[in-house]
Amino acid sequence: MSKVLIIGAGGVGSVVTHKCAQIPEVFSEICLASRTLSKCEQIAAQLNRPIRTAQVDADNVPELVALINDFRPDLVMNIALPYQDLHIMDACLETGVDYLDTANYEPLDEAKFCYKWQWDYHERFREKGLMALLGSGFDPGVTNVFTAWAKKKHFDEIHYLDIIDCNAGDHGQPFATNFNPEINIREVTQRGKFYEHGEWVETEPLSQFQSFDFPEGIGPKNIYLMYHEELESLVRHFPEIKRGRFWMTFSDQYLNHLNVLQNIGMTGIKPIRHDGHEIIPLQFLKSVLPDPGSLGPLTKGKTCIGCLIRGMKDGKEKSYYIYNICDHQQCYVEVQSQAVSYTTGVPAMIGAMLMLNGSWRGEGVFNMEQLDPEPFMQKLNLHGLPWVEYEGDLSRVGL
Ligand code: NDP
Repeated sequence: MSKVLIIGAGGVGSVVTHKCAQIPEVFSEICLASRTLSKCEQIAAQLNRPIRTAQVDADNVPELVALINDFRPDLVMNIALPYQDLHIMDACLETGVDYLDTANYEPLDEAKFCYKWQWDYHERFREKGLMALLGSGFDPGVTNVFTAWAKKKHFDEIHYLDIIDCNAGDHGQPFATNFNPEINIREVTQRGKFYEHGEWVETEPLSQFQSFDFPEGIGPKNIYLMYHEELESLVRHFPEIKRGRFWMTFSDQYLNHLNVLQNIGMTGIKPIRHDGHEIIPLQFLKSVLPDPGSLGPLTKGKTCIGCLIRGMKDGKEKSYYIYNICDHQQCYVEVQSQAVSYTTGVPAMIGAMLMLNGSWRGEGVFNMEQLDPEPFMQKLNLHGLPWVEYEGDLSRVGL
């Protein structure tokens, strides 16, 4: 029986709230707080049990502290944006409450994410006997747990890790992003980066791509090399990794639109003057693009996210692929959201559940792969994200 404060009533926050509300024996009291109260109320109205709602500016630490002191949660789940991470961590430290998020901190004025800012909180959380769990979404999140599971069950050493994220869904819109457009476009347009033999190698944005043959009827698609935050923690916690890469699929239509938007300056994050006001082009673009939350009823098809791993077991080389397939329409039937929000929200709920029931406990700041993958893997199967493992000759798929 635990109280949880969920901050952020967007696409992912909605799934987290639905999934927590499905399990009253763990999440006995829920408060959903966000910048716009009406969005919290809309989500609350979809549930079949009452929850509390609140308005909060998560960039304002005293406001957060007042809300936390009033509700007294056992855990704060940060499902707002990466910009809020440090403010919410500060409020958790001040009030003595555990913390969880799904994306690492990123400063508003620079499209650069890295764990340093949050890892620097380790001693402060440890001294207070508190736990902060970072990146409890799908990627980061499940992909970290898949890697830890592979190491625990299938490999003595992991040498080559490829994380591959495919959204084979179609929302019928000319251009839309499946999660927050600002965060998505900042991530996709930054320089690519992968890890090889102890060094980070940079590439031009989306310049490296190849075909990958996805399972279960999805078939071959182009995957593009990008930098993604879980690579940073995975190569730190599994130092035997010789090469770590992250790949994502994009349709030609998405890439064409993105190219044009970049070429005309609409993805910029530096303020410009417009009609006597200062605006940030990317934030303006966000306000004219479809709200990812509105894509739920429109999106058909599947996502397939997984890890392809090569390494050593009992002195022999071995290849292994583990993935989850998630169907957009089935997610909509269950929680009124598309699969990208679903695949992020379910792991956030599971991470919270494991912290609250004591299966995952620690003092300080943790990435997902530092904790025992076993209970998390069991819960994925029970709560809507079953996984499939494949061992053997993987040359067919293309990496
Ligand atoms: P949305 O933009 O749909 O939702 C974000 C929510 O946070 C909105 O409700 C917004 O309020 C609220 N918010 C923003 N700023 C503040 C603030 N200062 N105070 C209070 N509330 C605020 O984003 P998503 O739901 O798509 O994404 C949520 C998080 O999930 C992001 O951090 C994203 O990076 C992460 N993510 C992680 C993935 C993973 O696999 N690990 C995959 C996909 C997303 P308002 O409604 O007023 O705008």
